[in-house]
Amino acid sequence: MHYNQTKFLKSAQKLSQIPSESKIEIAFAGRSNAGKSSAINKITNISGLAKTSKTPGRTQLLNYFQVSEDRFLVDLPGYGYAKVAHTVQKEWEKTLTAYIETRQQLRGIVLIMDIRHPLTQHDQNMLAWVTNHNIPVHILLSKADKLNRGPAMSTLLAVRKALLPYADLVTVQLFSALKGTGVDDARYKLDAWFASDSV
Ligand code: GDP
Repeated sequence: MHYNQTKFLKSAQKLSQIPSESKIEIAFAGRSNAGKSSAINKITNISGLAKTSKTPGRTQLLNYFQVSEDRFLVDLPGYGYAKVAHTVQKEWEKTLTAYIETRQQLRGIVLIMDIRHPLTQHDQNMLAWVTNHNIPVHILLSKADKLNRGPAMSTLLAVRKALLPYADLVTVQLFSALKGTGVDDARYKLDAWFASDSV
């Protein structure tokens, strides 16, 4: 796929607003500040595509990026970003739950975790939940440039080991938006998911 042709299409607040032309989509998730926007920008090679600063109005939505006619990347709101009213948060959680549990077009989730703080409780809840719904997850251990190669590799191995119970559904790699580490591997994974049969 030519990720550098990707365009922001729309923000969907409700499932009814999801682009009808979508046949396969891949969602990006992760704790706020983990490096999700930077990863999307780096993978597509379009700086500023997913806003790294928190764009008001885009944080509570499913942001749809069109890679090709019927292939989409979906930027999910960063979890742990509590600057919204409780009622809005609850409403949003319902939408997100419905999205993940019912969206046939969702072929995989890219989960971004800061390599210095991998597998937070929320990450673990997310992994247990989505794998329980048989959705594959590819983890980017982001900001890998923040660690030397030795510690980065041992973190990678430790995370892989911790995720052995999910081995069929979960893969893990090192990633640095700053240095470009792992960008090709991430694209390779997206290519494979996008190449699967559409619904
Ligand atoms: P998001 O909230 O998950 O979308 O995170 P952002 O992409 O906005 O990144 C959060 C912060 O981490 C920003 O200050 C980024 O510049 C920084 N950051 C993101 N990726 C990297 C990386 O690969 N290396 C380093 N050193 N910093 C990064």
